[in-house]
Amino acid sequence: MQRYQIMARIAVTDGMADEAVELLQKAGHVVEVGHISKSDLLDGALQNFDAIIVRSATKLPKEIIEVSKGLRVIARAGVGVDNIDLESAGNNGIPVLNAPNSSTQSVVELTIGHLLASVRFLPKSDRGIRLGKWEKKLMTGTELNGKRLGLIGFGRIAQGVANVAKALGMEIHTYDPYLPNRIAKSHDVYLHKSVDSLFKTCTHISVHCNLTDETHHLVNKKRLNLMPGRVGNIACGNHIVNCARGGIIDEEALLRALDSGTVSSAALDVFEEEPVSKDYELLRHDNFHGTPHIGAATLEAQSRVGIDIANYLIRFFKNQKIDSIVNKKFLQS
Ligand code: NAD
Repeated sequence: MQRYQIMARIAVTDGMADEAVELLQKAGHVVEVGHISKSDLLDGALQNFDAIIVRSATKLPKEIIEVSKGLRVIARAGVGVDNIDLESAGNNGIPVLNAPNSSTQSVVELTIGHLLASVRFLPKSDRGIRLGKWEKKLMTGTELNGKRLGLIGFGRIAQGVANVAKALGMEIHTYDPYLPNRIAKSHDVYLHKSVDSLFKTCTHISVHCNLTDETHHLVNKKRLNLMPGRVGNIACGNHIVNCARGGIIDEEALLRALDSGTVSSAALDVFEEEPVSKDYELLRHDNFHGTPHIGAATLEAQSRVGIDIANYLIRFFKNQKIDSIVNKKFLQS
């Protein structure tokens, strides 16, 4: 892969921590921080930049990548790269890199927070108390201890969730068709051969895979109906959490399952369409609670992500090896 210069012009379109900008500047790069509109991007606003650093707000589809002639590298300050057309970037000779580790711990903690909030009715209790209701009996929850947690995908975040959930006494199951058996073994988790088997076994499901054609609406009506709803004589109900990507859960099916009681609670940090409006259907359900895609929104993760990306770009323009390039074309080379 050819990288041609030490000093680069870098556009930062979705914001970045000051210390990360300073790091790039100290390395001799010119950094321009500011939103660039979709129409300007389509008009070739990136032609004069060597690199762009985006979060999730800036979308880089094929039409924009193809008119961004000067671009040498695209950096995603975060994990998910579904806002970037990886294939088109590859075809245009542009590597895409991300910061895969910086938000892992923050998303782990949010996931556990959502699980606990669900089974102990934290959002619902708070809503009641604000209305002057003291509904103690209605808020009888269940423990996580002794329950089976099904993790869809067993990558960085799921492994962190597994560690904490184990400490809370949960039994960990996973479905991840790309996971080598030895990794499941080394984490002491049950690796299921089919996603249906995971749903049949677990009362608590947390989504941690990437959004792909294969995982779109992987959580659907048929699978929600498979969940057992109890462990032994404890009718703990079925609980769904998604802090990965919107679109992996069929949200309409989830609402119907909440309505019918098949699913007892659902907690989402990510949605098929973001931002959700106040008329968003799931919001009318008392056993649903949500957060506005805040998985990586901690001071620690924000600082880490900027520093990680700045360091990767500094290495990139020095022609040094970077492990976090995600488009296949460059992974093979
Ligand atoms: P990762 O790449 O380490 O793990 C993803 C796992 O999903 C991999 O082990 C992969 O094998 C597995 N997978 C792929 N296809 C699958 C399929 N069809 N079925 C089951 N598993 C499959 O990623 P990560 O860092 O653990 O991130 C997990 C998810 O969390 C990603 O979707 C990422 O975009 C999302 N995320 C969300 C936030 C947020 O703000 N809520 C922040 C960071 C990451």
